[in-house]
Amino acid sequence: MISYEQIEEFICQYPVYQYAFFSPEDIEFSERVRWICQNECERYDTTWACPPAVGTVEECREKCLTYKECFLFSTIASVSDVINLEETLATRGEHEEITASIEKFIRSQGTECIALSTESCDICEHCAYPEGPCRFPEKMHPCLESHGIIVSELADRYSMDFTLSPTEILWFSLIFMK
Ligand code: SF4
Repeated sequence: MISYEQIEEFICQYPVYQYAFFSPEDIEFSERVRWICQNECERYDTTWACPPAVGTVEECREKCLTYKECFLFSTIASVSDVINLEETLATRGEHEEITASIEKFIRSQGTECIALSTESCDICEHCAYPEGPCRFPEKMHPCLESHGIIVSELADRYSMDFTLSPTEILWFSLIFMK
């Protein structure tokens, strides 16, 4: 399996703000988050990257626990005001590209991995869900919350910031490695 040192060396080239390594066993998978997806998110039932397409929280947990290690990292984007959702979401692109690069590097070193990332997938202008299968299953990143993961709690546990200032947004990705 790829070593922590190899990942640390690779991410030096990117503006990664903070990161942590830990075991998937240490993650709490919460039905509470799924309730929020279902009742408060307009993406629910609209993409392969969101519930219910990602499976039940228990199925997500079982899948995640087949991996040995996790790598959580954050990047910072500057905005005029974090409560401006449209502007904030428009800054996801760079973080997603960094996530894809790290994921590609881990795979190139012979380690199987999956990444959970920000919000839901925006790769296609119109998601193939539910009529057809996902067009880019290797590239698609379900959002962290879709798996019942409370990112603020995870960040807190590993001494990572979850909020910074009214003009800085933190984006998070979690990569599971076999
Ligand atoms: S890659 Fe395309 S089809 Fe797959 S989840 Fe993303 S938007 Fe939908």
